[in-house]
Amino acid sequence: MRPTGLGGQVSKPKDYRTDLNPVWCPGCGDFGVLRGLTQTLSDLEIQPEKLALISGIGCSSRLPGYTRSYSFNTLHGRALPIATGLKLARPDMTTVVVGGDGDGFSIGIGHIPHAVRRDVNLTYAVLDNGLYGLTKGQASPTSTQEFKAQRGLAGQDERPINPVMLLLSSGCGFVARTHAGNLPHLRQMFREAISHRGFAFLHVMAGCVTYQKPSYAQQLYAQCDLLPESYDPTNFAQAVETARAERFALGVIYRRPPGERPAISGPDHSDAVGIWPSLDTPAEITFPGGAT
Ligand code: SF4
Repeated sequence: MRPTGLGGQVSKPKDYRTDLNPVWCPGCGDFGVLRGLTQTLSDLEIQPEKLALISGIGCSSRLPGYTRSYSFNTLHGRALPIATGLKLARPDMTTVVVGGDGDGFSIGIGHIPHAVRRDVNLTYAVLDNGLYGLTKGQASPTSTQEFKAQRGLAGQDERPINPVMLLLSSGCGFVARTHAGNLPHLRQMFREAISHRGFAFLHVMAGCVTYQKPSYAQQLYAQCDLLPESYDPTNFAQAVETARAERFALGVIYRRPPGERPAISGPDHSDAVGIWPSLDTPAEITFPGGAT
């Protein structure tokens, strides 16, 4: 890991930025995600020396380099096991994994159910643009059939993966969705995901302005609806129904019911949203059915 300008108290979102200029294409949805994340870090007052940002490979995986933190751009698809090991060794570090749909749902997909069942206290945010941007627009596991047909790619009859269903069926205790065009919502979802105790998954829809039609992101965001206030995220059956709906629901789609504890415990920022009581003792790692 390399420190990226750590040190000194930081408080404002801009204080969390490194002096590297993003090389993303102008208009890329990843800019919105970077803003939303730095605002959340500021909201939660997470100091850079207590923050680990881990990524795989791809356009979105560049994000840790632009954020003051201990950061690690790992191998393609391998961010989750690295982050899990780091969090177990340093439970005091707020650990966030950022990656793309190609990185996470193709070569990295085998790590997802295992990271979920270990339930280590970290956040996994997938910035989903439905293609491989860094390698010039090939179809990814979440590419729509229309996109594949437009680009004349092989395998155009394959159906895309549904990330929210994938994580729900893996048993994830926190599953939420947002999009890069709604900054306040993005900020709120990052805040809730980071504050969740255990493995948290955040599906972030983020348009690619270079390899999609320019209007794609707007069309995508127009297919989204905020979950109503009456929605109960602890109702698993309702969460599955929501995940399978044609339009995209934005919000916390599933959160394990209060009282159900994660498999492995450690310090967190739950106080910020009042979900779990704070831990006032040093971190203790407990393996179910095994020694501590
Ligand atoms: S290729 Fe697409 S995803 Fe990659 S930086 Fe450019 S707009 Fe963003």
